[in-house]
Amino acid sequence: MNYQVAASVAAARLGADDKFLAGGQSLLGAIKLGLAAPEGLVDVRRLPELQGISVTGAAVRIGAATPHAVVAASPEVRRAIPALADLAGRIGDRQVRNLGTLGGSLANNDPAACYPAAVLGLGATVHTATRQIAADDFFQGLFTTALQEGELITAVSFPIPKAAGWQKFKQPASRFSLVGVFVARFDSGVRVAVTGAGPGVFRCHELEAALAHDWSPAAARAVKLSADGLNTDLHGTAAYRAALIPELAARAVAG
Ligand SMILES: Cc1cc2nc3c(=O)[nH]c(=O)nc-3n(C[C@H](O)[C@H](O)[C@H](O)COP(=O)(O)OP(=O)(O)OC[C@H]3O[C@@H](n4cnc5c(N)ncnc54)[C@H](O)[C@@H]3O)c2cc1C
Repeated sequence: MNYQVAASVAAARLGADDKFLAGGQSLLGAIKLGLAAPEGLVDVRRLPELQGISVTGAAVRIGAATPHAVVAASPEVRRAIPALADLAGRIGDRQVRNLGTLGGSLANNDPAACYPAAVLGLGATVHTATRQIAADDFFQGLFTTALQEGELITAVSFPIPKAAGWQKFKQPASRFSLVGVFVARFDSGVRVAVTGAGPGVFRCHELEAALAHDWSPAAARAVKLSADGLNTDLHGTAAYRAALIPELAARAVAG
């Protein structure tokens, strides 16, 4: 397998069977299991354009190669969107947080991953080397995104909400979300994103309507959700997940 370190965003080009490599916390495992067999790896982790955290106007911009631990510890993120720092600080274990990156998590789009919930819940914008993609258009189901072959995520801009919260009911072996719920309140309305419960991250419009009317734990708990389309596996039934979503939303609102 070829390995090269990309010298710049412009030079970060993939051959037909190549893949970008960031923290390797999803990709290397997939290669070891035989689930992926790229011909070459183009390492983008040290690209200067993919680094850094800044607050610009009403948004926090985070470079795609920023490790989870750096987001968790960032004073800017903790001040502007504490729920986002909290989410990053509860991903996986110490090794995963030190190596895994925001861009890698979003490109991978594991159906139980944490970051997709924050990106969708906050209505963030995903910046790539060629365009900007709204969160509502980015996630397209199981391990599928709007990214085209060879399209590199460079950064994500997260609008700063009036209030936000994250609650994750952890699957203790993998530490991924059995169900995770991100809630955010803006002047323009409420967004609620759910991960771990379905084939991909999704917005819960019933909870958004209830919380827009009354931003309170009781309003979230009063919502009853259908289990249709939710996951059943050895860790929990669809009905169990449907019951967890409003409860986690209530706890996320309570802060
Ligand atoms: C034990 C364990 C526990 C974990 N627990 C959690 C958890 O609780 N919550 C959670 O959310 N995640 C969890 N993860 C996954 C972790 O967050 C990964 O770091 C993340 O999914 C992938 O990030 P990465 O930087 O390691 O990407 P890589 O593994 O390097 O790449 C993943 C994919 O993204 C592509 N890619 C990487 N960077 C870019 C880019 N900038 N632009 C376009 N494509 C890119 C790669 O080509 C590859 O297809 C866990 C992983 C492990 C091993």
